[in-house]
Amino acid sequence: MVRERDGIHFDVDGRKIVADSRSAAGDVNIVSHAHFDHLHDADSEVVCSETTAALAEARTGQEIKRSNEAEIDLVPSGHIIGSTAAVFGDEKKYVYTGDVSMRDRLYLDGFDPPEADVLVTESTYGVPAYRFPDQEVIESRIKDFIQDNRDRPLYLFGYSLGKAQKIQKIIEDVVERPVLVHGAVKKMNDAVERATDLEFSAVSYGENKEKLEEENAVLVAPSRSSQADWMDKNVRKYGGLKTGFSGWASQESFKHRGGYDETFVLSDHCGFDELIELVKEVDPDKVYTQHGFDEELARHLSTELGYDARALKSNQSTLENF
Ligand SMILES: [Zn+2]
Repeated sequence: MVRERDGIHFDVDGRKIVADSRSAAGDVNIVSHAHFDHLHDADSEVVCSETTAALAEARTGQEIKRSNEAEIDLVPSGHIIGSTAAVFGDEKKYVYTGDVSMRDRLYLDGFDPPEADVLVTESTYGVPAYRFPDQEVIESRIKDFIQDNRDRPLYLFGYSLGKAQKIQKIIEDVVERPVLVHGAVKKMNDAVERATDLEFSAVSYGENKEKLEEENAVLVAPSRSSQADWMDKNVRKYGGLKTGFSGWASQESFKHRGGYDETFVLSDHCGFDELIELVKEVDPDKVYTQHGFDEELARHLSTELGYDARALKSNQSTLENF
């Protein structure tokens, strides 16, 4: 039995295994990665990678108690540093992907899917409109953009943990100007540096604002600040281009919604083709989809590819009956 109710609840071999819930609802509680929508109220023990615990502690200031559940296998899911899929079950083997990417990107290896009977996968980009270009193509377009716009400031927006660090790594060999980072990004850079052997050369925006004007600096900031007043003030004062990075950039509407001058498809999730590839590699008897285009992906998997697939909806009860 699998259901979604503040996290994904599995009844497996007589135990309740709960993934990515805010509360300690299960006999075993799994945290797949350190994005806020997956963080746990810290008091109980959780199964997660050491890096996820370190990053979560840096974000929340709360200590994470890791439990060692030998029956839960954590496999890197290629989404962000420390992110893991969970593999468990004796009678039937289950795979819960959490957020997942199949592609190798910069310092991250893509998810290598194990075979299983039951797959619960994210489906953020589960429709064919979100087919992503090859990673090399994406990265070289970004580098060209940075070099073609060396005579003005650039404002680059992405999620502060994950995307912002990848943007920095992509541009680091081509940018000849100072790279500034917003405080939220700096905090995550520091946490990633402590948890891994990665290093970032960027300096804090707060103490180096003048570099936007004097040296046409590049500023990396969280997506949520793309339309903030202080950001618009910078653009009015110093000129420059606002640039968004996301899988959603596959659609033109992303540009208008974020108020961006330019956008690039750069994602920490599977695109449509990779979701299909993931399902094929796991080769499950049952597939449950969650997030984004969940219904659409489940429909494609069942009608086009013959899988027993359906979307997980909030508060849904038993899903044994397809
Ligand atoms: Zn995530």
